[in-house]
Amino acid sequence: MKKVLIIGGGFAGCAAAHQLSLIGGWDITLVEKAPVLGGGVKTFWHGGHPYTFGPRHFLTQDEKLFNYLNQLVPMRRCQEHEFITYVEKDANFYNFPIHKGDIPRMPDRDKIEQELKEVAGAANARNLEEYWIGSVGESLYNKIVNGYTKKMWGLDSCTELDDFAWSPKGVAIKEGSRACWDEAISAYPIALNGYDEYFDIATEETTVLLNRLITEYDPENKRVFFDNEWHSFDLIVSTVSPDVILGDIHGELPFLGRDFFKIVLPVEYAFPENVYFVYYGGDEPFTRAVEYKKFTNHKSPHTFIGLEIPSDRNKLYPMPIKREIAHAQQYFSDMPEGIISMGRAGSYKYIDIDDIIDQAMAMAQQINEGGLDHPVPLFGEEIEAVAAEMNKN
Ligand SMILES: Cc1cc2nc3c(=O)[nH]c(=O)nc-3n(C[C@H](O)[C@H](O)[C@H](O)COP(=O)(O)OP(=O)(O)OC[C@H]3O[C@@H](n4cnc5c(N)ncnc54)[C@H](O)[C@@H]3O)c2cc1C
Repeated sequence: MKKVLIIGGGFAGCAAAHQLSLIGGWDITLVEKAPVLGGGVKTFWHGGHPYTFGPRHFLTQDEKLFNYLNQLVPMRRCQEHEFITYVEKDANFYNFPIHKGDIPRMPDRDKIEQELKEVAGAANARNLEEYWIGSVGESLYNKIVNGYTKKMWGLDSCTELDDFAWSPKGVAIKEGSRACWDEAISAYPIALNGYDEYFDIATEETTVLLNRLITEYDPENKRVFFDNEWHSFDLIVSTVSPDVILGDIHGELPFLGRDFFKIVLPVEYAFPENVYFVYYGGDEPFTRAVEYKKFTNHKSPHTFIGLEIPSDRNKLYPMPIKREIAHAQQYFSDMPEGIISMGRAGSYKYIDIDDIIDQAMAMAQQINEGGLDHPVPLFGEEIEAVAAEMNKN
């Protein structure tokens, strides 16, 4: 039997293990440095309240991905979900993404309406600022997008962001009865421990080694060093940042992280009905507050709110900057045959749970069809296209 090593037991590593076990013929080992599987999607508990590190709400446009997960971890559809944003200058909350129906409540509505009539469009936008101003005008951009986005990415200006593929926040102004993503399936596991069961089911056929830190990598020979010895494999599926595997040969890839703060409030619900997240674009240190009961359906006379604060203490968000995507591409180009890099850090792309399942399925299909020689992650073509464009300029 051929041997495969999976590095990292987050959603990506577990999904990869599951897909490889479904195709069969592989002796699968998964190495995870933490004491538990699940990475950021693992459910923890605080005062009896279940929560994950940041919301891990399952949103997808692809029914196949929903069905896959739902079959293993029964999901509760929550199509009613809504997000809002606080605008201090207006002393008001509005829908997020921006909704046309909110404009009459805005103090500068006349100016906004005029700007909306005059918007130039975003087709030729070179960066996120031009994109949004071209889509909704300067006032709405400054009111709702600019402060939040700068805070989210730890930047001084949205002109530094020139890759838009990351943004799930809606592409322009929404109309209709709700601002939210009605076109997507919105769901969360029914079980109070969220996705946890998935990690066990997905790795049933896998040798899982927790609390294991790989201290050396020999990608050319598909070997890694842990437990005081070298271990060799026929294939390595890595879900960690590619610079880790290749020893920073092109310099460290930048990421942004988050600190997480937990607050229990003495009320049954804090946010209005159906509101799951509140986004903050002002000078408060946090980007958003999430009321976890809205997802988990946990019953309690109290509610639990998680606050996320941008931080450099962990590596969670690859930067949506073409220069850095091209930087990541240098690593993908150098990745030896037999090493596949996937997951959020492994792809150096802001992807979600549904994308990760999709990647794992595509990866297994590719291997099943006989290809072990594809070192770049799924979405590699996109990344290559960005790199090619960078090289041209
Ligand atoms: C704050 C936040 C909120 C999010 N909310 C949503 C959401 O609402 N909906 C959604 O669909 N997606 C959401 N996402 C995205 C989604 O959850 C992630 O894309 C996905 O969970 C990433 O899975 P992963 O396995 O690639 O990474 P991770 O979950 O980061 O897992 C990586 C694993 O690798 C381990 N590891 C790291 N280095 C090593 C090493 N050297 N050796 C061994 N193990 C190692 C880590 O301990 C970790 O367990 C969110 C992401 C963040 C950061």
